[in-house]
Amino acid sequence: MARSAEIVIVGGGIIGVSIAYHLALHGARGIIVIEREMELGTGATSKATGGIRHQFSTPVNVRLSQVSSSHFAGFEAETGIDIGWRQHGYLFMATPGAEWDALQRSAALQVSLGVPTRLVTPADMQGLVPQLRVDDLAGGTFCPIDGSANPTAALQGYLGVARRLGVRLVTGAEVIAIDASGGRVAGVRAANGDRYAADVVIDAAGPRVADVAALAGATVEARPFRRQVFVMSRDPELPSGMPFIVDLATGWYIHQEANGRLLFGGTDRDNRPGLEPVVDWDGFDRVANAALHRAPAVAERVRVETAYTGIRTLTPDFHAIVGAVGPLAGFIVASACNGHGFMHAPAVGQIVAEIVLNGAARSLDIAPLSPDRFAKRAGRDEAVMF
Ligand SMILES: Cc1cc2nc3c(=O)[nH]c(=O)nc-3n(C[C@H](O)[C@H](O)[C@H](O)COP(=O)(O)OP(=O)(O)OC[C@H]3O[C@@H](n4cnc5c(N)ncnc54)[C@H](O)[C@@H]3O)c2cc1C
Repeated sequence: MARSAEIVIVGGGIIGVSIAYHLALHGARGIIVIEREMELGTGATSKATGGIRHQFSTPVNVRLSQVSSSHFAGFEAETGIDIGWRQHGYLFMATPGAEWDALQRSAALQVSLGVPTRLVTPADMQGLVPQLRVDDLAGGTFCPIDGSANPTAALQGYLGVARRLGVRLVTGAEVIAIDASGGRVAGVRAANGDRYAADVVIDAAGPRVADVAALAGATVEARPFRRQVFVMSRDPELPSGMPFIVDLATGWYIHQEANGRLLFGGTDRDNRPGLEPVVDWDGFDRVANAALHRAPAVAERVRVETAYTGIRTLTPDFHAIVGAVGPLAGFIVASACNGHGFMHAPAVGQIVAEIVLNGAARSLDIAPLSPDRFAKRAGRDEAVMF
Protein backbone atom coordinates (compact mmCIF):
# COMPACT_ATOMS: atom_id res chain seq x y z
CA MET A 1 0.00 0.00 0.00
CA ALA A 2 1.35 3.49 -0.81
CA ARG A 3 0.70 6.39 1.55
CA SER A 4 1.86 9.96 1.18
CA ALA A 5 3.59 12.24 3.64
CA GLU A 6 5.81 15.24 3.19
CA ILE A 7 8.19 14.38 5.99
CA VAL A 8 9.05 10.90 7.26
CA ILE A 9 10.95 10.58 10.54
CA VAL A 10 12.56 7.15 10.97
CA GLY A 11 12.70 6.34 14.69
CA GLY A 12 10.37 7.19 17.53
CA GLY A 13 12.80 7.87 20.35
CA ILE A 14 13.18 11.21 22.11
CA ILE A 15 15.06 12.68 19.13
CA GLY A 16 12.51 11.64 16.49
CA VAL A 17 9.58 12.75 18.61
CA SER A 18 11.21 16.09 19.49
CA ILE A 19 11.76 16.70 15.78
CA ALA A 20 8.12 15.85 15.02
CA TYR A 21 6.96 18.18 17.79
CA HIS A 22 9.09 21.11 16.67
CA LEU A 23 8.21 20.66 13.01
CA ALA A 24 4.48 20.51 13.73
CA LEU A 25 4.66 23.41 16.18
CA HIS A 26 6.20 25.57 13.46
CA GLY A 27 3.58 24.74 10.90
CA ALA A 28 4.87 21.66 9.04
CA ARG A 29 2.18 19.18 8.06
CA GLY A 30 2.19 15.68 6.59
CA ILE A 31 4.61 14.35 9.21
CA ILE A 32 4.85 10.62 9.92
CA VAL A 33 7.02 9.01 12.59
CA ILE A 34 7.82 5.40 11.68
CA GLU A 35 9.03 3.14 14.48
CA ARG A 36 10.12 -0.49 14.18
CA GLU A 37 9.01 -1.47 17.69
CA MET A 38 5.34 -1.70 18.71
CA GLU A 39 5.75 1.29 21.03
CA LEU A 40 7.67 4.53 20.87
CA GLY A 41 10.52 5.28 23.23
CA THR A 42 11.62 1.72 23.97
CA GLY A 43 15.16 2.19 22.59
CA ALA A 44 17.99 4.17 24.18
CA THR A 45 15.48 6.71 25.45
CA SER A 46 13.97 4.19 27.87
CA LYS A 47 17.43 3.57 29.38
CA ALA A 48 18.60 7.17 29.73
CA THR A 49 19.44 8.24 33.26
CA GLY A 50 17.90 11.64 32.60
CA GLY A 51 20.99 13.70 33.37
CA ILE A 52 21.08 17.24 32.00
CA ARG A 53 24.38 19.08 32.16
CA HIS A 54 26.01 22.21 30.79
CA GLN A 55 29.50 21.09 31.69
CA PHE A 56 31.05 20.31 28.32
CA SER A 57 34.37 21.26 26.77
CA THR A 58 33.17 22.54 23.39
CA PRO A 59 30.97 25.55 22.62
CA VAL A 60 28.48 23.58 20.53
CA ASN A 61 27.74 21.10 23.32
CA VAL A 62 27.33 23.90 25.87
CA ARG A 63 25.00 25.76 23.49
CA LEU A 64 22.95 22.61 22.82
CA SER A 65 22.43 22.33 26.58
CA GLN A 66 21.53 26.00 26.94
CA VAL A 67 18.95 25.86 24.14
CA SER A 68 17.55 22.62 25.56
CA SER A 69 17.42 23.97 29.12
CA SER A 70 15.16 26.81 28.06
CA HIS A 71 12.77 24.15 26.74
CA PHE A 72 13.06 22.03 29.89
CA ALA A 73 12.27 25.11 32.00
CA GLY A 74 9.06 25.71 30.06
CA PHE A 75 8.26 22.08 29.32
CA GLU A 76 5.13 21.79 31.44
CA ALA A 77 3.74 25.05 30.09
CA GLU A 78 4.53 23.95 26.52
CA THR A 79 3.18 20.39 26.72
CA GLY A 80 1.15 20.03 29.92
CA ILE A 81 3.47 17.27 31.16
CA ASP A 82 5.58 17.48 34.33
CA ILE A 83 8.93 15.88 33.53
CA GLY A 84 10.27 16.12 37.07
CA TRP A 85 13.02 18.59 36.17
CA ARG A 86 15.36 19.04 39.16
CA GLN A 87 18.42 21.28 39.25
CA HIS A 88 20.62 19.46 41.72
CA GLY A 89 23.85 20.23 39.90
CA TYR A 90 26.61 18.03 38.50
CA LEU A 91 29.91 17.65 40.33
CA PHE A 92 32.92 16.55 38.29
CA MET A 93 36.00 15.55 40.27
CA ALA A 94 39.56 15.11 39.03
CA THR A 95 42.86 13.84 40.37
CA PRO A 96 46.01 15.90 39.66
CA GLY A 97 47.16 15.88 36.04
CA ALA A 98 45.75 16.32 32.57
CA GLU A 99 42.12 15.74 33.53
CA TRP A 100 42.18 18.49 36.14
CA ASP A 101 43.79 20.90 33.64
CA ALA A 102 41.15 20.04 31.03
CA LEU A 103 38.34 20.40 33.57
CA GLN A 104 39.51 23.91 34.47
CA ARG A 105 39.70 24.89 30.79
CA SER A 106 36.20 23.55 30.23
CA ALA A 107 34.88 25.49 33.22
CA ALA A 108 36.41 28.69 31.84
CA LEU A 109 34.70 28.07 28.50
CA GLN A 110 31.36 27.41 30.19
CA VAL A 111 31.62 30.61 32.24
CA SER A 112 32.49 32.59 29.09
CA LEU A 113 29.23 31.29 27.58
CA GLY A 114 27.19 32.34 30.62
CA VAL A 115 27.04 29.03 32.52
CA PRO A 116 27.49 29.43 36.31
CA THR A 117 30.08 26.64 36.69
CA ARG A 118 32.53 27.10 39.55
CA LEU A 119 35.77 25.46 40.55
CA VAL A 120 35.54 23.61 43.87
CA THR A 121 38.21 22.40 46.27
CA PRO A 122 38.27 18.92 47.78
CA ALA A 123 36.93 20.46 51.00
CA ASP A 124 34.07 22.12 49.07
CA MET A 125 33.20 18.73 47.58
CA GLN A 126 33.03 17.17 51.02
CA GLY A 127 30.82 20.07 52.05
CA LEU A 128 28.41 19.12 49.27
CA VAL A 129 28.54 15.37 49.99
CA PRO A 130 30.35 14.48 53.25
CA GLN A 131 30.58 10.77 52.30
CA LEU A 132 33.09 11.45 49.50
CA ARG A 133 36.75 10.51 49.82
CA VAL A 134 38.66 13.54 48.50
CA ASP A 135 42.26 13.19 49.71
CA ASP A 136 43.58 12.18 46.26
CA LEU A 137 41.67 14.86 44.33
CA ALA A 138 43.09 18.04 42.84
CA GLY A 139 39.71 19.71 42.53
CA GLY A 140 36.42 19.68 40.75
CA THR A 141 33.75 21.71 39.02
CA PHE A 142 30.16 22.23 40.11
CA CYS A 143 27.34 23.73 38.08
CA PRO A 144 24.16 24.34 40.07
CA ILE A 145 21.85 24.60 37.03
CA ASP A 146 22.72 21.08 35.85
CA GLY A 147 20.20 18.45 36.88
CA SER A 148 17.92 15.72 35.62
CA ALA A 149 14.42 14.92 34.37
CA ASN A 150 12.38 11.95 33.22
CA PRO A 151 13.09 11.07 29.54
CA THR A 152 9.94 8.95 29.09
CA ALA A 153 7.75 11.74 30.44
CA ALA A 154 9.47 14.18 28.07
CA LEU A 155 8.81 11.87 25.12
CA GLN A 156 5.15 11.61 26.12
CA GLY A 157 4.91 15.38 26.48
CA TYR A 158 6.24 16.02 22.99
CA LEU A 159 4.21 13.17 21.54
CA GLY A 160 0.91 14.40 22.96
CA VAL A 161 1.27 17.84 21.40
CA ALA A 162 2.64 16.43 18.14
CA ARG A 163 -0.37 14.13 17.78
CA ARG A 164 -2.79 16.97 18.52
CA LEU A 165 -1.05 18.92 15.73
CA GLY A 166 -1.62 16.08 13.29
CA VAL A 167 1.62 14.07 13.40
CA ARG A 168 0.88 10.45 12.46
CA LEU A 169 2.58 7.45 14.04
CA VAL A 170 3.25 4.07 12.50
CA THR A 171 4.62 1.44 14.88
CA GLY A 172 5.83 -2.09 14.29
CA ALA A 173 7.21 -0.99 10.92
CA GLU A 174 10.92 -1.26 10.26
CA VAL A 175 12.14 0.98 7.45
CA ILE A 176 14.16 -1.25 5.14
CA ALA A 177 14.55 0.91 2.03
CA ILE A 178 14.68 4.54 1.00
CA ASP A 179 13.31 5.39 -2.43
CA ALA A 180 14.93 8.02 -4.60
CA SER A 181 13.94 9.93 -7.69
CA GLY A 182 15.98 12.49 -9.59
CA GLY A 183 18.74 12.59 -6.98
CA ARG A 184 16.48 13.19 -4.01
CA VAL A 185 14.56 11.09 -1.55
CA ALA A 186 11.09 10.04 -2.65
CA GLY A 187 9.99 8.06 0.39
CA VAL A 188 10.60 4.97 2.47
CA ARG A 189 9.52 1.34 2.44
CA ALA A 190 8.74 -0.69 5.53
CA ALA A 191 9.35 -4.38 6.11
CA ASN A 192 5.58 -5.06 5.98
CA GLY A 193 5.49 -3.78 2.40
CA ASP A 194 3.97 -0.36 3.10
CA ARG A 195 5.45 2.63 1.26
CA TYR A 196 5.44 6.21 2.45
CA ALA A 197 6.12 8.95 -0.10
CA ALA A 198 8.08 11.93 1.24
CA ASP A 199 10.17 14.90 0.14
CA VAL A 200 12.19 14.78 3.33
CA VAL A 201 13.40 11.71 5.25
CA ILE A 202 14.93 12.25 8.68
CA ASP A 203 17.10 9.49 10.16
CA ALA A 204 16.50 9.53 13.91
CA ALA A 205 17.19 5.81 14.34
CA GLY A 206 19.45 6.22 17.39
CA PRO A 207 21.91 3.31 17.66
CA ARG A 208 20.85 2.17 14.16
CA VAL A 209 21.50 5.57 12.58
CA ALA A 210 24.31 4.30 10.35
CA ASP A 211 22.19 1.38 9.08
CA VAL A 212 19.34 3.68 8.06
CA ALA A 213 21.79 6.17 6.51
CA ALA A 214 23.26 3.34 4.44
CA LEU A 215 19.78 2.80 2.94
CA ALA A 216 20.15 6.31 1.49
CA GLY A 217 23.69 5.58 0.31
CA ALA A 218 25.13 7.81 3.06
CA THR A 219 28.00 7.05 5.41
CA VAL A 220 27.62 8.11 9.02
CA GLU A 221 30.49 7.63 11.47
CA ALA A 222 28.57 6.47 14.51
CA ARG A 223 28.63 3.15 16.30
CA PRO A 224 26.52 1.61 19.09
CA PHE A 225 28.12 0.82 22.46
CA ARG A 226 26.64 -0.82 25.54
CA ARG A 227 26.30 1.16 28.75
CA GLN A 228 25.08 -0.52 31.87
CA VAL A 229 23.55 0.86 35.01
CA PHE A 230 23.34 -0.70 38.46
CA VAL A 231 20.30 0.34 40.46
CA MET A 232 21.24 0.49 44.12
CA SER A 233 19.14 0.78 47.26
CA ARG A 234 18.65 4.15 48.96
CA ASP A 235 21.25 5.45 51.40
CA PRO A 236 19.49 7.55 54.05
CA GLU A 237 22.84 9.04 55.11
CA LEU A 238 23.36 10.80 51.76
CA PRO A 239 22.03 14.35 51.43
CA SER A 240 18.77 14.32 49.48
CA GLY A 241 18.97 16.33 46.28
CA MET A 242 22.73 15.75 46.09
CA PRO A 243 24.56 16.49 42.82
CA PHE A 244 25.09 13.98 40.02
CA ILE A 245 28.72 13.06 40.76
CA VAL A 246 31.29 11.96 38.19
CA ASP A 247 34.77 10.74 39.15
CA LEU A 248 36.78 11.40 36.00
CA ALA A 249 39.68 9.21 37.16
CA THR A 250 37.56 6.06 36.74
CA GLY A 251 34.49 7.31 34.87
CA TRP A 252 32.33 6.15 37.81
CA TYR A 253 29.17 8.11 38.49
CA ILE A 254 26.51 8.13 41.18
CA HIS A 255 23.09 9.64 40.61
CA GLN A 256 20.36 9.91 43.22
CA GLU A 257 16.96 9.59 41.58
CA ALA A 258 13.97 11.64 42.74
CA ASN A 259 12.75 8.62 44.76
CA GLY A 260 16.11 8.35 46.53
CA ARG A 261 17.33 5.24 44.71
CA LEU A 262 20.93 5.41 43.57
CA LEU A 263 22.27 4.66 40.12
CA PHE A 264 25.88 3.54 39.83
CA GLY A 265 27.43 3.45 36.38
CA GLY A 266 30.28 4.42 34.10
CA THR A 267 33.67 2.64 34.06
CA ASP A 268 32.67 0.91 30.79
CA ARG A 269 34.02 3.21 28.11
CA ASP A 270 36.29 0.49 26.74
CA ASN A 271 33.39 -1.72 25.57
CA ARG A 272 33.38 -3.12 22.06
CA PRO A 273 30.62 -1.93 19.69
CA GLY A 274 27.37 -3.87 19.80
CA LEU A 275 23.59 -3.59 19.85
CA GLU A 276 22.81 -6.34 22.37
CA PRO A 277 21.60 -4.81 25.65
CA VAL A 278 22.90 -7.63 27.85
CA VAL A 279 24.16 -6.96 31.37
CA ASP A 280 27.78 -7.95 31.93
CA TRP A 281 27.89 -8.75 35.65
CA ASP A 282 31.68 -8.88 35.50
CA GLY A 283 31.44 -5.12 34.99
CA PHE A 284 29.95 -4.79 38.45
CA ASP A 285 33.39 -5.31 39.99
CA ARG A 286 34.72 -2.22 38.20
CA VAL A 287 31.78 -0.12 39.35
CA ALA A 288 31.94 -1.48 42.89
CA ASN A 289 35.69 -0.90 43.17
CA ALA A 290 35.36 2.66 41.91
CA ALA A 291 32.52 3.27 44.39
CA LEU A 292 34.46 1.71 47.28
CA HIS A 293 37.35 4.02 46.53
CA ARG A 294 35.37 7.27 46.15
CA ALA A 295 32.48 6.81 48.59
CA PRO A 296 33.45 3.82 50.79
CA ALA A 297 30.74 4.15 53.44
CA VAL A 298 28.02 4.44 50.79
CA ALA A 299 29.35 1.49 48.82
CA GLU A 300 29.40 -0.64 51.97
CA ARG A 301 25.82 0.30 52.95
CA VAL A 302 23.89 -0.02 49.68
CA ARG A 303 22.99 -3.19 47.77
CA VAL A 304 22.26 -3.88 44.09
CA GLU A 305 18.53 -4.04 43.34
CA THR A 306 18.77 -4.60 39.61
CA ALA A 307 20.85 -3.76 36.55
CA TYR A 308 20.08 -2.88 32.96
CA THR A 309 21.95 -2.08 29.79
CA GLY A 310 21.18 0.43 27.06
CA ILE A 311 22.94 1.43 23.89
CA ARG A 312 24.76 4.71 23.42
CA THR A 313 25.69 5.88 19.94
CA LEU A 314 29.21 7.26 19.86
CA THR A 315 31.14 9.23 17.24
CA PRO A 316 34.93 9.64 17.04
CA ASP A 317 34.78 13.22 18.41
CA PHE A 318 31.86 12.66 20.85
CA HIS A 319 29.62 15.15 19.08
CA ALA A 320 26.16 14.45 17.66
CA ILE A 321 25.51 14.19 13.95
CA VAL A 322 22.89 16.64 12.73
CA GLY A 323 22.33 17.86 9.19
CA ALA A 324 21.70 16.95 5.58
CA VAL A 325 23.98 14.33 4.07
CA GLY A 326 24.35 13.17 0.47
CA PRO A 327 24.15 11.65 -1.96
CA LEU A 328 20.35 12.17 -1.84
CA ALA A 329 18.88 15.64 -1.35
CA GLY A 330 16.21 15.69 1.33
CA PHE A 331 17.96 13.16 3.59
CA ILE A 332 18.77 14.48 7.05
CA VAL A 333 20.51 12.75 9.95
CA ALA A 334 19.79 13.64 13.59
CA SER A 335 21.38 11.19 15.94
CA ALA A 336 24.49 9.85 17.62
CA CYS A 337 24.27 12.09 20.60
CA ASN A 338 27.05 10.29 22.52
CA GLY A 339 25.09 9.73 25.69
CA HIS A 340 23.63 13.24 25.63
CA GLY A 341 20.61 12.64 23.42
CA PHE A 342 18.01 13.18 26.09
CA MET A 343 19.45 16.45 27.36
CA HIS A 344 20.02 17.73 23.81
CA ALA A 345 16.77 16.46 22.29
CA PRO A 346 14.87 19.76 22.56
CA ALA A 347 17.68 21.66 20.80
CA VAL A 348 18.14 18.97 18.14
CA GLY A 349 14.39 18.98 17.43
CA GLN A 350 14.40 22.75 17.12
CA ILE A 351 17.45 22.76 14.84
CA VAL A 352 16.13 20.08 12.51
CA ALA A 353 12.83 21.96 12.23
CA GLU A 354 14.84 25.04 11.23
CA ILE A 355 16.78 23.08 8.61
CA VAL A 356 13.61 21.62 7.10
CA LEU A 357 11.51 24.78 7.24
CA ASN A 358 14.15 27.48 6.63
CA GLY A 359 16.92 25.63 4.84
CA ALA A 360 19.48 26.12 7.64
CA ALA A 361 19.87 26.02 11.42
CA ARG A 362 19.30 29.41 13.03
CA SER A 363 19.57 28.78 16.77
CA LEU A 364 23.23 27.86 16.73
CA ASP A 365 26.20 27.11 14.52
CA ILE A 366 25.96 23.39 13.80
CA ALA A 367 29.08 23.09 11.64
CA PRO A 368 30.74 20.94 14.37
CA LEU A 369 27.82 18.49 14.05
CA SER A 370 27.88 18.17 10.26
CA PRO A 371 27.70 14.57 9.02
CA ASP A 372 30.71 15.02 6.68
CA ARG A 373 33.08 16.56 9.25
CA PHE A 374 35.03 13.34 9.71
CA ALA A 375 36.02 13.23 6.06
CA LYS A 376 37.24 16.84 6.38
CA ARG A 377 38.91 16.19 9.76
CA ALA A 378 37.36 19.44 11.00
CA GLY A 379 36.32 20.17 14.59
CA ARG A 380 37.42 19.45 18.09
CA ASP A 381 36.75 16.52 20.40
CA GLU A 382 34.47 16.78 23.42
CA ALA A 383 36.69 16.06 26.44
CA VAL A 384 34.27 15.92 29.39
CA MET A 385 33.15 12.33 28.82
CA PHE A 386 32.60 9.49 31.26
C1 LIG B 1 22.43 3.67 30.15
C2 LIG B 1 22.26 4.97 29.43
C3 LIG B 1 22.21 6.16 30.16
C4 LIG B 1 22.05 7.37 29.49
N1 LIG B 1 21.95 8.51 30.24
C5 LIG B 1 21.73 9.68 29.61
C6 LIG B 1 21.61 10.88 30.37
O1 LIG B 1 21.72 10.86 31.60
N2 LIG B 1 21.35 12.02 29.70
C7 LIG B 1 21.25 12.06 28.34
O2 LIG B 1 21.04 13.14 27.79
N3 LIG B 1 21.37 10.95 27.60
C8 LIG B 1 21.61 9.77 28.20
N4 LIG B 1 21.75 8.64 27.47
C9 LIG B 1 21.69 8.74 26.01
C10 LIG B 1 20.27 8.78 25.53
O3 LIG B 1 19.56 7.66 26.02
C11 LIG B 1 20.25 8.78 24.01
O4 LIG B 1 21.19 9.71 23.49
C12 LIG B 1 18.88 9.14 23.48
O5 LIG B 1 17.86 8.39 24.11
C13 LIG B 1 18.87 8.90 22.00
O6 LIG B 1 17.54 9.04 21.53
P1 LIG B 1 17.22 8.58 20.08
O7 LIG B 1 15.81 8.99 19.83
O8 LIG B 1 18.28 9.05 19.16
O9 LIG B 1 17.40 6.98 20.12
P2 LIG B 1 16.36 5.85 20.56
O10 LIG B 1 15.65 6.19 21.80
O11 LIG B 1 17.11 4.57 20.53
O12 LIG B 1 15.31 5.87 19.39
C14 LIG B 1 15.62 5.44 18.09
C15 LIG B 1 14.41 4.66 17.59
O13 LIG B 1 14.61 4.33 16.23
C16 LIG B 1 13.99 3.08 16.01
N5 LIG B 1 14.54 2.51 14.77
C17 LIG B 1 15.81 2.14 14.54
N6 LIG B 1 15.94 1.67 13.27
C18 LIG B 1 14.72 1.78 12.70
C19 LIG B 1 14.20 1.47 11.40
N7 LIG B 1 14.98 0.95 10.45
N8 LIG B 1 12.88 1.69 11.16
C20 LIG B 1 12.08 2.22 12.10
N9 LIG B 1 12.51 2.53 13.35
C21 LIG B 1 13.82 2.32 13.64
C22 LIG B 1 14.36 2.31 17.25
O14 LIG B 1 13.51 1.20 17.44
C23 LIG B 1 14.23 3.37 18.33
O15 LIG B 1 12.97 3.37 18.98
C24 LIG B 1 21.94 7.41 28.09
C25 LIG B 1 22.01 6.23 27.36
C26 LIG B 1 22.16 5.02 28.01
C27 LIG B 1 22.21 3.75 27.19
